[in-house]
Amino acid sequence: MLTITEPERQLPVIAEVDVVVCGGGPGGFSAAIASARRGAKTLLIERYGFLGGLATAGLVVPILAHTAHESETPIVEGILRELTERMHAIGGAPAWEQTLPQWGIRFDAEALKIVLDEMVQEAGVQVMLHTTITDVIRNNHHIQAVIIETKSGRQAVTGKVFIDATGDADVAYRSGAPITHGRDFDGRGEAMGSFFHLAGFEPLDEERAQELRQQIEHEMEDGRFHFYNAGFLSTNSHHTDHTAANMTRFGGDADLAADLTQAEFSVRRDVWDLVRYLRASVKGFEDCYVQQTSPQVGPRESRQIVGPYALTGDDVHDGAKHEDAIARGSWWIDIHCPLGHAYPVHLCTVECPKGADCDYWSSHHESMRSRNELYPPSGDWYDIPYRSLLSVSVPNLLAAGRCISATHEGMAGSRVMGTCIAIGQAAGTAAALAVQKGCHPTEIDVQVLRQMLREDGQLV
Ligand SMILES: Cc1cc2nc3c(=O)[nH]c(=O)nc-3n(C[C@H](O)[C@H](O)[C@H](O)COP(=O)(O)OP(=O)(O)OC[C@H]3O[C@@H](n4cnc5c(N)ncnc54)[C@H](O)[C@@H]3O)c2cc1C
Repeated sequence: MLTITEPERQLPVIAEVDVVVCGGGPGGFSAAIASARRGAKTLLIERYGFLGGLATAGLVVPILAHTAHESETPIVEGILRELTERMHAIGGAPAWEQTLPQWGIRFDAEALKIVLDEMVQEAGVQVMLHTTITDVIRNNHHIQAVIIETKSGRQAVTGKVFIDATGDADVAYRSGAPITHGRDFDGRGEAMGSFFHLAGFEPLDEERAQELRQQIEHEMEDGRFHFYNAGFLSTNSHHTDHTAANMTRFGGDADLAADLTQAEFSVRRDVWDLVRYLRASVKGFEDCYVQQTSPQVGPRESRQIVGPYALTGDDVHDGAKHEDAIARGSWWIDIHCPLGHAYPVHLCTVECPKGADCDYWSSHHESMRSRNELYPPSGDWYDIPYRSLLSVSVPNLLAAGRCISATHEGMAGSRVMGTCIAIGQAAGTAAALAVQKGCHPTEIDVQVLRQMLREDGQLV
C-alpha cells in the first residue's frame, strides 16, 4: 500500500485532568457523572454535538435490562433511575415505578439529550463535544494522553486515569493494548442495524395491525424486504404519534469506514423500500413518511478490551455471581447474525433456519447454543465483575459500556444500555477512587468501590 510520512510536531496540551472519559454514550456519560460527583477533575470527550451514544445517535430508545430476567425487581438504579426520573419530569419517559413491569424503559431521545446536558454540567464535568479522539500517547505501560481533533486542529489531553467508553474500544486499540473482535473463530461481530421513526398514517386497531404485520412477513418470506422482523408498527419510544422500528440488519465490520458506509446506504434503502411499498399498497399509509432515520447506523459489536476476566455466555446463562461484582445484567445471549442474514434468521443460534446454507453456521455449529441455553435464570441476573473493566496491559485504563472484556456470547448480553449505564457508573467511581488513593484502577480495593456504589444508589 502507498504510504505517506506525517511530519513530527508539538501538540498543545489543552487540558490536564484526573479522569478522561472517552465517548459520551451510556458507558461514558454515566462514568463522567460518577467520577466528577466523587470529586475527580473529569473531562468527557464526545465526537457528536450531543451525549447519549446510540441512545440518541442510534435512536435506540428502550433501555433494556433494568430489572431481573422475567421479573419486576430492579437490578440497576443509581444514575439510570435518576435520569429516568428527570426525563419523566419533562414528559420524556414513564415514572420509574411504571417502567418496572414493562419491557425496558421507553424514552424520548430528545429528552435524554437535555437531561444529560444538565446532569454533566451540574456534576461539574468538563465536556468537549465535536471532539474526536484520534490517537493515544503511551509512556511505557501507561496512557499519558489522548490526541484529539477539533475544528481548532490537533491537540492533546493528559490525565491520570482514562476510561474507554467509545463502544469500539478505540482508546485501548490505539494504545496497543490487546483487544478481541467478534467471534473467536472468524472475528465477525454481530450485525449492525438502525432504528427509524415512521409517521403520517392512520391509527390502526390491534386486529388490523396484526394483519398488516403478517402481510409484511409474507413479503419478507418472498424476499421482498431485507428485514429481520416486521416490527415497523412498534412503539419502542415514549411517544405514540410515530413508530420506532428496529428491523434493519447489515453484516459488516463496524470498525471499517467502508463497511459503515455500505451499512448506511443499505439500511436507508431498506427503510425506503418499505415506505414506498406501504404508500403504494396499504390503505391509510398513502401519506406515511420517514420522520427520521438514526444519525448513525448502530454497531452492536466491534472490539472488546482484554481484561483479567472475560464475561462469557455461561456467566449470562448461569446467572453467575462474582465477589468483585460492580454491576448487574439480565439481558440474554441475543446474537444478531454476523453475516447479516435477515428474515427468517432472527438469532444466530443452533435454531438458525439458514442451517447448512450458512458456511459459518455449519462449520461452527458447536459454538452456537439452543434457545433454552440463551437466558439467565428467571427472576435472576448475572454480575459484571470489576476485572472485566480492566486491561491486562495498561494499568490506568478502564473500559465502560459495550467494549468491556467479554466473549462474543457474553457481550451479547451485557451490551444493552441498562447494563452499560451501570458499568459506566462503576468505572467512573473506580477512576475517582484510584485518583483519591493515588493508585491505578488495577490497585483499588474493590469492596470499597462496591460500598461507594451502594452509597450512590446502585444495586451491587
Ligand atoms: C440496532 C441496535 C439496536 C439496539 N437495541 C437496543 C435496545 O433496544 N435496548 C438497549 O438497551 N440496547 C440496545 N442496543 C445496544 C446499545 O444501544 C449499545 O450496546 C449501547 O448504546 C452501548 O453503549 P456504549 O456507551 O458502550 O457505546 P455507544 O452507545 O456506541 O456510545 C459510544 C460513544 O462514544 C462516541 N465515540 C466513539 N468513538 C469516539 C471517538 N474516537 N472520539 C470521540 N467520541 C467517540 C460515540 O459518538 C458515542 O457517543 C442496540 C444496538 C443496536 C446497534
